[in-house]
Amino acid sequence: MKLLLLALLAVNMGGIKYLDSSFNVYDRMQKTVHEYAEPGFLEYKSSALLASHLEENGFSVEWGVAEIPTAFIASYGSGKPVIGILAEYDALPGLSQDTTAFNSPLAGKEYGHGCGHNLLGTGAVASAVAISKWLAEGHAGTVKLFGCPAEENAGAKAFMVRDGYFDGVDCVLAWHPSSVNMIQRNSAIARIGVVFTFKGKPAHSAGAPHLGRSALDAVEAFDYMMNLNREHFPPETKFHYVISNGGEAPNVVPAEAQAYYFLRHPSVKTLKEVLEWTKKAAEGAALGTGTTVECDVLSGNYPILINEHLSRMALKNLIKVGGVKLDDREKAFVDEVKRNSGSTSMGNFSKFETVRDYFGPIIATGGSDDVGDVSQVVPLFKVNTTVNVAGAHTWQMATLAGTTIGTKALINAAKVMYLTAVDLYTKPKELKAVRDEFESVRGANPHYEPLMGDRKPPIDFYTNQK
Ligand SMILES: [Zn+2]
Repeated sequence: MKLLLLALLAVNMGGIKYLDSSFNVYDRMQKTVHEYAEPGFLEYKSSALLASHLEENGFSVEWGVAEIPTAFIASYGSGKPVIGILAEYDALPGLSQDTTAFNSPLAGKEYGHGCGHNLLGTGAVASAVAISKWLAEGHAGTVKLFGCPAEENAGAKAFMVRDGYFDGVDCVLAWHPSSVNMIQRNSAIARIGVVFTFKGKPAHSAGAPHLGRSALDAVEAFDYMMNLNREHFPPETKFHYVISNGGEAPNVVPAEAQAYYFLRHPSVKTLKEVLEWTKKAAEGAALGTGTTVECDVLSGNYPILINEHLSRMALKNLIKVGGVKLDDREKAFVDEVKRNSGSTSMGNFSKFETVRDYFGPIIATGGSDDVGDVSQVVPLFKVNTTVNVAGAHTWQMATLAGTTIGTKALINAAKVMYLTAVDLYTKPKELKAVRDEFESVRGANPHYEPLMGDRKPPIDFYTNQK
């Protein structure tokens, strides 16, 4: 009996040993991606680094997925089940940051890993390689790592889902750096990214303003109307915008101006209604200012459909793996970051060593996530491991993500995904339970309708932004 138990335990330990002994490999990799800090759709060096490591480990790599140059799929093994793992590697504007315990943007660098996607991508790769080592021992099944660009701006996963790249995948495993070790219970909210471009007539602003029609006036009228609408939109609607083009010079009546909006709501149906109302506001603003308007939905994301059975399987493995264990030097560094954070520190909220070993209710708060679109077509879970002492999109995350603390967190996440993958490969009943729950939640004749329609990925919009 004892021998049988030991044999069972040893069944999945190979990948764990691999991850423990590869700390330095993935430490170097995440720090290199941290240094590259490339914006969405321009992650050429980051995606190449991750993909080449997978290739060296026997994966076959397909590039240009969904017509996106920095999207790739790396596959290993053969036959069913097919387990997918999501990797991200894009950085954020305004968050360039050295790995110091205080806010220190790097000279001449705009982008930084304020959401820890250098860890996300590297941890996903580490996990996929660990799984491939286990498959190589003679087990049936396939692992597919999805290299997903531009999570922060356009959400490439929605385009990859729309174009059928997740067809035939049985389950997807995902993770994100966080300030708590837990299985995610936040389903996020649906989001539409939409650009309104107004066109008027140029004229000398002082010499002949009566001959001009200001596209900027239209943007201002539109934004004003939207802010009045805040009170009357369906409860839980959120929207925010920037003026992505406000004209060139005060002495020329702007012939073209543009507002870039994010509209959000927990319900996709309500969000679509909010979009229609927003379009009416834009048309009204154009009518009143003698301009015209064009509306372009760039991107859209669904909320995350959380699979309870798969989440429970992952929680067991997270408890097995445990929290992120810091040494004295790392603890001192975390304390210093906290001290330098002032009110932005989440203080004792951040928990490195402990694991949240229970499930609260599913909530729909905060931002949006293109993992949502994947969850509409494949059951998935998302595990969080602790890296940070403040919220996401902060210098604190950008700093901590570039240290060994981040590497420890990514190794832990890789272990949880690895163990859960092995469970899914070896326990067909568990996989069936996951799939059955997924089918029953989606109901008969499920239909995924991408929120951005059939447009091409808006790569040019982002690369041309001033
Ligand atoms: Zn993120």
